[in-house]
Amino acid sequence: MIADERKSKKHLVSSVPNTSTQSSTNGQDRPSHSRPSATDNSFFVDPNEARNDEVDLPRIEAAVRSILEAVGEDPDREGLLETPARVARMYAEMFAGLKSDPARHLAKVFTEDYDEIVLVRDISFCSMCEHHLLPFSGKAHIAYLPSGKVVGLSKLARVVEEVARRPQVQERLTHTVADLVENRLSARGVAVVVESTHSCMTMRGVRKPGSLCLTSAMRGIFRDDPKSRSEVLGLINRQS
Ligand SMILES: [Zn+2]
Repeated sequence: MIADERKSKKHLVSSVPNTSTQSSTNGQDRPSHSRPSATDNSFFVDPNEARNDEVDLPRIEAAVRSILEAVGEDPDREGLLETPARVARMYAEMFAGLKSDPARHLAKVFTEDYDEIVLVRDISFCSMCEHHLLPFSGKAHIAYLPSGKVVGLSKLARVVEEVARRPQVQERLTHTVADLVENRLSARGVAVVVESTHSCMTMRGVRKPGSLCLTSAMRGIFRDDPKSRSEVLGLINRQS
């Protein structure tokens, strides 16, 4: 397909409501006076947001059709007729974070005289391994030590959600989130821990169901001071 054809065939991504990602935060770990987002119910991704990017759906459809043929399937049999279009919409949804800037979620900060750890645990996410285009999913935990600036807790979950919606590797997802929080909040310390299960390890290759991949990124005081690091890891790992 030549470039001009592609251009003319670009379609707007259709809106697909996303209800699959939720975050549960641990109330005990959440200081009540640092909750500027208490009335912020904007946690769920607005289906109209980040949807103004164009994704070439027909091109994905043609590619999926080719894959089906290449593996020896008949893309015209009844069960597969709508599969290419379905997969195209799925990729548009899974990669909706590609052209958006997750930093915008951290643009609105609140001045708060709070100098203890803020932690949001168990932010569930689903991303796509860029090596196999298979999903990996799990939980992210984000802690930071403010330096006078805090952010709505739901915004941290939004950052994870958006960074995850790109072809990814878990290591990059982890440090991208840490860098964003450190830079945007000028936090004295940031700790991000991500745990997830990778389909490319459980269903293919070494086939190890149940294996868990853990990554962490420490910034500022959590990197430099072992006592602070063990304190924050203790909070993240606390059974509750
Ligand atoms: Zn993989």
